Amino acid sequence: MRELEANVSNRFSLNGKVTVVTGGRQGIGKVVANALAEQGSDIAIIDVADASAVAAELVDRHGVRAVALTCDVTDPEAVGRTIEEAAQQLGTLDLLFNNAGICLHKPALDCTPADFTRVIDVNLNGIFFVAQAFARHLLAAGKSGNIVNTASMSGTIVNIPQGQASYNASKAGVAHLTKSLAVEWAPLGIRVNSISPGYIHTEMTGNVREDWREIWTEMIPFKRMGTPEELAGAVIYLLSDASTYTSGADLIIDGCFTVV
Ligand code: NAP
Repeated sequence: MRELEANVSNRFSLNGKVTVVTGGRQGIGKVVANALAEQGSDIAIIDVADASAVAAELVDRHGVRAVALTCDVTDPEAVGRTIEEAAQQLGTLDLLFNNAGICLHKPALDCTPADFTRVIDVNLNGIFFVAQAFARHLLAAGKSGNIVNTASMSGTIVNIPQGQASYNASKAGVAHLTKSLAVEWAPLGIRVNSISPGYIHTEMTGNVREDWREIWTEMIPFKRMGTPEELAGAVIYLLSDASTYTSGADLIIDGCFTVV
């Protein structure tokens, strides 16, 4: 039998890596960017709004290099330019936390074409444009790499009582896009996985009706919503060499919501 490899914990290190984090100005993206920097990674934040304060915080707190670039992930040309800009500013790219997203709480019967299209555009098309630009960059640079997309438990179950069909459909799309890219890009040495959070305390869920939050909490076997910090370890695992045999996986992190 072969000998066990030593230093398993070293495999979680991101020292010397450069990670792109989309939607990193706040919420899950910001907290995970901090966790990735704590593991040693330099960070390029891409967000539709200016995230330079977050980049400055990463430099101060973790002593890594960090830049913030403004870009709407629904614009494929801007995405391509921004990925190249990130690589130029930080010298190279290795990892991608593809996380920017929006949620619309609106009954399906009331959704306008613009409502529906916007959610699909940000949450599904945006994820694809960023992943594609990142993979094209790696290929041109002759490098392998690794992607984690943010899907949602809403790609598996239907949330109630709020209507959010556009969101749920977009996230089911992200989970299957993840599997599709994982298979297509396996020969290129690019792994693609997703996380599917349950209800997480962020700006996205901060402004919803209190009675909805009470219903959600009652339905969650853990009887509480999660925090972005409770997702960070999964992203580190999937982006690091601790998961070199894992691709096309979706890790559901939801306090048992989808289990019952
Ligand atoms: P959040 O606090 O609203 O943060 C999302 C970030 O993405 C914001 O900084 C936002 O910028 C940015 N963004 C939105 N549209 C963009 C675009 N077109 N281009 C570039 N950046 C854009 O949300 P969150 O809760 O952290 O969610 C992060 C991801 O987790 C999303 O994909 C979400 O669907 C997913 N998720 C969240 C939960 C949850 O309960 N919170 C559960 C499951 C999955 P602006 O604020 O300036 O628009």
